[in-house]
Amino acid sequence: MYGYYGYGLYDPTMILVLIGAVLSLWASAKVKNTFNRYSSVRSMTGMTGAEAAQRLLNSQGIYDVTVRPVSGQLTDHYDPRTKTVNLSDGVYSSTSVAAIGVAAHECGHAIQDNVGYVPLRMRAAFVPVVNFGSQLSWPLILIGLLIGGAGSTIVNIGIWMFVLVVLFQLITLPVELNASHRAVKLLDSIGILQGKEVGQTRKVLGAAALTYVAAAAASVLQLLRLIMLFGGRRDRDN
Ligand SMILES: [Zn+2]
Repeated sequence: MYGYYGYGLYDPTMILVLIGAVLSLWASAKVKNTFNRYSSVRSMTGMTGAEAAQRLLNSQGIYDVTVRPVSGQLTDHYDPRTKTVNLSDGVYSSTSVAAIGVAAHECGHAIQDNVGYVPLRMRAAFVPVVNFGSQLSWPLILIGLLIGGAGSTIVNIGIWMFVLVVLFQLITLPVELNASHRAVKLLDSIGILQGKEVGQTRKVLGAAALTYVAAAAASVLQLLRLIMLFGGRRDRDN
C-alpha cells in the first residue's frame, strides 16, 4: 500500500514544505517593502538608474554592454548572451536610491561576466542541466512511485534530478551576493551614492539577496522531504 506514505494533509513532512513557503513569502514581502521604502528616497546626485549603470560600467572599462529598459516590475537582469543590462521601468528612469542600487547590482553581474568570475561561469554552464532536471524530476518520482514504489530506482533518479535543482540554487547564492557586494563598493568609491545612501542601498540589496537564500532553503527542505518520503532502499510489504 503506497497510501501508507501519505500524500495528503496528514503527511508530517509537509511541515518542511510549509516552512519553505513561509520563508519565501516573508523574503519576497521584505524585498518589496524595502524597495518601496527606498524608491521614494531621491539620491543626492539625481542620477537615474540607467545613468548610474552606464557610469559604473564605464568606470570598469566596460563599453560593450548596453543598458536598456525592460517592461515589468523587478524584472531587472543582466543577459550575458546579448551583453545587456536590462532595467525595469521603476529602475531605468528613477533617481531613487533603490533604483540605483538595483541598477548597480545588475552591473555587478556584467562585471562578473567581464572578469570571468568562476561561480557565474559555473552557474551558466549549469542552466541546461537544471532545466532538464527540473522538468523530469517530479514526473520520474510519480511514475516511479506508481511502477516500483518508494525507494525504487526510477524514484531515486527523480530525486537526483531534484538534487541538480538544489545545487543550482546554491551556486546562485555566491553569484548574487558577490554582485551586490561589488555594486555597493563601486557606488561608494565612484561617489554615485554618498553618506547614508550607501547604507540604504545595502539594505535594498540585502533584502533582495534574502529571496535567493529563502529559495535555496526552500528547495533544500523540499529535497529533505523527498528523501524522507521516497528515497533510499526500504523493505516493502507488497
Ligand atoms: Zn542578480
